[in-house]
Amino acid sequence: MVDVVFTGGRVVDVRTCTSRIANVAVEHGKIVDISAHELPAKRVVDAAGLVVAPGFIDVHGHLDGHAYAGQLSAMQGITTTVGGNCGLSPLDLEGWFAGQARTGYVINQAELVGHSFSMRRAVGIEDVNARASAAQTDAMVRIADRALRAGAAGVSLGLDYAPGSGLAEIDAMAAIAAEYGRCLPVHTRLFTQNDLYSLYEMLAAAKRSGGRLLLSHFVYQYSGFGTLRPALDVVDAARAKGMDVWMDSGMYTDWATYAGTATFDEQTIKDNSLRFGDMVAATGKYTGTRLNRELYELLRHKYPDESIICYSGEPYEIYEALQKPYAMMSTDAGAYAPGEGHPQIAGSYPRFLRKMVREKRLLGLEEAVYKCTLLPAQTYHIPGKGVLEPGYDADLVLFDRDAVRDNAKMPDKGEPDAPPDGIPYVMVNGVFAVDDGVFQNTRSGCVIRY
Ligand SMILES: [Zn+2]
Repeated sequence: MVDVVFTGGRVVDVRTCTSRIANVAVEHGKIVDISAHELPAKRVVDAAGLVVAPGFIDVHGHLDGHAYAGQLSAMQGITTTVGGNCGLSPLDLEGWFAGQARTGYVINQAELVGHSFSMRRAVGIEDVNARASAAQTDAMVRIADRALRAGAAGVSLGLDYAPGSGLAEIDAMAAIAAEYGRCLPVHTRLFTQNDLYSLYEMLAAAKRSGGRLLLSHFVYQYSGFGTLRPALDVVDAARAKGMDVWMDSGMYTDWATYAGTATFDEQTIKDNSLRFGDMVAATGKYTGTRLNRELYELLRHKYPDESIICYSGEPYEIYEALQKPYAMMSTDAGAYAPGEGHPQIAGSYPRFLRKMVREKRLLGLEEAVYKCTLLPAQTYHIPGKGVLEPGYDADLVLFDRDAVRDNAKMPDKGEPDAPPDGIPYVMVNGVFAVDDGVFQNTRSGCVIRY
């Protein structure tokens, strides 16, 4: 007798981008059968009318073991997250993996080692505009090397946050990631509007290293200044020349980051014509309040660790970017307290399915699921996940394609952490993390060590 059978659902085969009505049987945390048979099971879940898909793999997260962020991710169908993005991560990955394995976590976690905040600080670079010395660069390479040996998924850069990073430093990080055959996800630097230099800079570095480049939250980087289309053309051209370059994006154009970062310094705001009235406090006691100069000064200098959302970009550019065959879904979800944050923490995947598949019909159901599962699994070489086949891990999401809906709103308009509708079941390694729409507070997620 198997543990669970999901009967009569529309099962997505992401390898062929097809689907068929079938039963899916799960035993000991693995998928054991997908067929018309109804195997005897300890529990039978009627999946008629639901789509049965591999659990979503979120390549751009900042969960890093945070409990509430994990809950919100599970509720939107994510069963694996890649943390430590944008240059911000734990540095002792050996200890971090051991800690996460000991306590357990609701979903599976791969983890990057981060350059631009974490390694730079660790080697004593206080000024984000300072260039690393040769000795500091060597010290960072040693940190990265240790983390990669401990199983980090790659090296993340957040050049926007460390404008002083020079080419030697970037090349050293790209080289060590490539040496281990791991990913280099990059939150590119942004000097001004219409900036494509940031893209050429990273493509050139990736070409020198020969490694795999993942352009992080691409729409946040290039939407709204008339730059997205040319930026996509640059990536198309690089891929046509055989470069190993990929991108991820979420379903929003309005990005969030810490008030104290270089992104929100006076000169950057001026250079990019950002307006205080287009910004809203996303965390802390001013959550949901639009900024003015006074509140900007207060957050920037007194509360630099609080987050600000900047309204920007053109929504149609999200759809344009995510239709590219090398574009995969991600959230950029971070660790926030209840009632705070950016709606991407709770609404990204249901919004993707609602907008791209149901309302605008820009992607077929199966292709959309592929962008949330197999494509990210292949990009990060995650074994045993991203596909529904016997022998694969039982990471599943069941959703109602006609009802799936994001309810999360920007914090000045509603609840940023409102869970979605239409995702009744989420299973992580054979255990229900969401059961009949109710979060289960389980810890069946594993750490994924390379
Ligand atoms: Zn970022």
